[in-house]
Amino acid sequence: MFEKILIANRGEIALRVIRACQEMGIKSVAVHSTADADAMHVRMADESVCIGPASSTDSYLNKASIISACEITGAEAVHPGYGFLSENAAFAQALQDHGIEFIGPTADHIRIMGDKITAKDTMKALGVPCVPGSDGGVPDYETAIATARDIGFPVIIKATAGGGGRGMKVARNEQELEIAFRTARSEAKAAFGNDEVYMEKYLQKPRHIEIQVFGDGKGRAVHLGERDCSLQRRHQKVFEEAPGPVITPEMRAEIGRICADAVARINYIGAGTIEFLYEDGQFYFIEMNTRLQVEHPVTEAIFGVDLVREQIRVAAGLPMSFNQDALEINGHAIEVRINAEKLPNFSPCPGKVRVFHAPGGLGVRMDSALYGGYSIPPYYDSLIGKLIVHGRDRPEALARLHRALGELIVDGIDTTVPLFHALLAEPDIQNGDYNIHWLEKWLAAQFG
Ligand code: ADP
Repeated sequence: MFEKILIANRGEIALRVIRACQEMGIKSVAVHSTADADAMHVRMADESVCIGPASSTDSYLNKASIISACEITGAEAVHPGYGFLSENAAFAQALQDHGIEFIGPTADHIRIMGDKITAKDTMKALGVPCVPGSDGGVPDYETAIATARDIGFPVIIKATAGGGGRGMKVARNEQELEIAFRTARSEAKAAFGNDEVYMEKYLQKPRHIEIQVFGDGKGRAVHLGERDCSLQRRHQKVFEEAPGPVITPEMRAEIGRICADAVARINYIGAGTIEFLYEDGQFYFIEMNTRLQVEHPVTEAIFGVDLVREQIRVAAGLPMSFNQDALEINGHAIEVRINAEKLPNFSPCPGKVRVFHAPGGLGVRMDSALYGGYSIPPYYDSLIGKLIVHGRDRPEALARLHRALGELIVDGIDTTVPLFHALLAEPDIQNGDYNIHWLEKWLAAQFG
C-alpha cells in the first residue's frame, strides 16, 4: 500500500480523499494556490505545498508544479478528485513517466472516453446501447442535413471534446440546423480548441440515469447500480438520487451487467460512470466519465462502500474488496449540491462565511470544506458543500433531507439552499416524476 498520497484538488473533494487516506493509515499531501492558503484541505492534510497563484491554470492545472510537489514530499501516488486534471490523459501519462501512480484509469482509457465520438464507437462495439446519431463526426453541413433526415428532427449537435454541458446545440428543423451546426462548431473551437462535432437524435423528455462501474484493471468489474441525475440546470446536475425512482431491479440488473461487462472487457481500472439518457424503457449511452463523480456519495450510502478507498486499493495493485454478489442496495439516498450562488439568477456569491453549522443525525452526511470565518475565494467552482441523506426508503430520505436542510446554517453568503426547500414542496419531486427539462421549466415558471 502507498505510504503517502498527494491530492491534486481543493474543496470538499480534497477533504473526501484526505479522510479516506486517514482511515487507511496513509499520509496525505495537500496542494494549494496562494488564494487557498487558509483552506480546510490544507489544514486537514499532513503536509501541504503551494503550487502557484490563484488562477487555476497556474496552480491546480499546473502539471509540472504538481509533479514537483510529489517529488519534494515523496508522494507515491496522486488522487485527482473530479474536475481539474482528473480526466487529463497527458497528466496521467506524465505521472507514470515520473514513476508516480495516478489513482484513476490508464491514460489510454481517459483519452478514449474523453473524445466523445471515440467513446461512443467504443461503447457501441462493446454492446452498450447508444443514442441514434451520426456515424462518427459530422464534417460539413451537407452531412449534417443528411444525418438529420436519416434520424429525424429534433437533433442535437455536440462537441466531441465537450464537457460540463457546454458546446451543445439543438435544431428542430433544417433552417435551425444550419445555424446550430455553425455555432456549435465555432463554440467548440473556442471552448475546447477542437471543432469536431457529432449529431444525435434529441430526446424530448429523457431522464439522466448513470451507472457506477468499478474495475480492477485485470478483467474483473462490477456495477453499483444507477443514480438519477435528471434535475439539471444548464446541463449541470443539482440533485441526485439512488436508486432511480423509475428503475426496476430487473432493468438495473440488465443495464448494470452490460456496463460491467463492457468495462471488464477493456480491463478498466478504478471508478467510472457510464451516463445514459433513459426514455420509454430504453437506455441510450451519452458519455463515460473516467473518474469519481461529484454525486458518488449517494451510491456509497446505499451500498455501504467507500469508493475512494477502493480506488486507492486497486491503484496499489490490491483486489477490489467486493464482488457483484456482495453488492446489495440498502434504502434510498439523495444528494443536493449547495452552491455559493444567489437566486434567482444563480450568480456566484463568494465571500466571507460568518457562521457555518453542518446538519447531523442519523443518515445525514455533509461533505463541505467550509468553516466559520472562511472566505470563499472567487476563482473557483461555486460548489461549497454536498448534503447527502440516506433513509430506509425514498419518503424517509425526502423527510430527512427536509429536516437536515433546516439545520444547515451558512451565514454571510447566499446559497442554493432555498431552491431545495422549494423543490421539496413540489408534488413532482415528492413523486419522483421529473425529467431533464423539469427544473428549467420550473425555474422559468417561478422566476420568469
Ligand atoms: P457534458 O459532457 O457536457 O456533460 P453530456 O453528453 O453528458 O455532455 O450531456 C449533458 C446533458 O445534455 C445531458 O445530461 C442531457 O441533459 C443533455 N443531452 C445530451 N445529449 C442529449 C440528447 N441526445 N438528447 C437530449 N438531451 C441531451
